[in-house]
Amino acid sequence: MKKIVYYILIFIVIIFIVPTILTKKQRNITTEVQETPKTQEEKHEVDLSSDRKIKLLHASTNEVEEVDLEQYICNVVSSEMPASYEIEALKAQAIVARTYTLYKMKHPKHENADICDSSTCCQAWLSKEDRLSKWEETEREKNWAKIEKCVADTKGKIITYNNEPINAFFHSNSGGTTETPKEVWGGENLPYLQVVQTAGEDGYRQYSSEVSFTFDELINKLKEKYGDISIDFSKNDDIKTMDYTQSGRVKTIKFGNHELSGVETRTLLGLKSTNFEFYKNDNKITFFVKGYGHGVGMSQTGADSMAKDGSTFEDIIHHFYSNVEIKNL
Ligand SMILES: [Zn+2]
Repeated sequence: MKKIVYYILIFIVIIFIVPTILTKKQRNITTEVQETPKTQEEKHEVDLSSDRKIKLLHASTNEVEEVDLEQYICNVVSSEMPASYEIEALKAQAIVARTYTLYKMKHPKHENADICDSSTCCQAWLSKEDRLSKWEETEREKNWAKIEKCVADTKGKIITYNNEPINAFFHSNSGGTTETPKEVWGGENLPYLQVVQTAGEDGYRQYSSEVSFTFDELINKLKEKYGDISIDFSKNDDIKTMDYTQSGRVKTIKFGNHELSGVETRTLLGLKSTNFEFYKNDNKITFFVKGYGHGVGMSQTGADSMAKDGSTFEDIIHHFYSNVEIKNL
């Protein structure tokens, strides 16, 4: 009799409780927000003078604040690029951030604001107070003054293609070669965002990283999206890169009974880029990753590396964005 009760209990667990757990596991994964370049969207006429104010949405409080454009660029540059980087790299970052801002004003993503302060949605922005508090006390004034000067020295400068501000994507480290937007977000490529190579990026800590998973950990991560995934780890080709993008990043990779894109794999496994290789040993798989970020547009470490070799901000911008002009607002 006891046995029957025991079997009934097991039956209940299998029928009701296990599916509930599995369904919860298959929740939507929050992917790193990587906006899609929208080349076809409606354009808004905006005042492009450099003295204008912009409406900045604070993502954490949902409040909109009106800030001076050039002051806003100082806060963005100080949040997006280390103050220790070369002056010409910081100037390039200022122009890229200003261009990106104007592009966003013309192609708004938020209803009541021009841009938000989240790095995963628009671009990072910290208040001066918050930014200073993150630097060593002795460095604060010096760092802020350096960035303010780089922004002031490039005041009003933006990057244009066909007389329009470009969608000036940037990222941390390209691993030596940048990527086209189509490979990251789908849609159409943009003529000024080509695959380009930059020397010296391997000198930065963002250039290489590695992550190891036990076979169980790997399966569990992939199950967050593919509940029925099954991999035969004893077979050498049950995990296999099927296809690479023009820049050498993983385009498609097979995991057992599923084929995933490199971008999807990066998100699910939390890799720093889609430029990776992997090795299996014992019951572990290790991913060796090159670069940090989506790889489109200007690489910040690449910009710094070029500046160290004597490049100006103009050289840097023309290297990462093809056939563009640098214009004054
Ligand atoms: Zn945003």
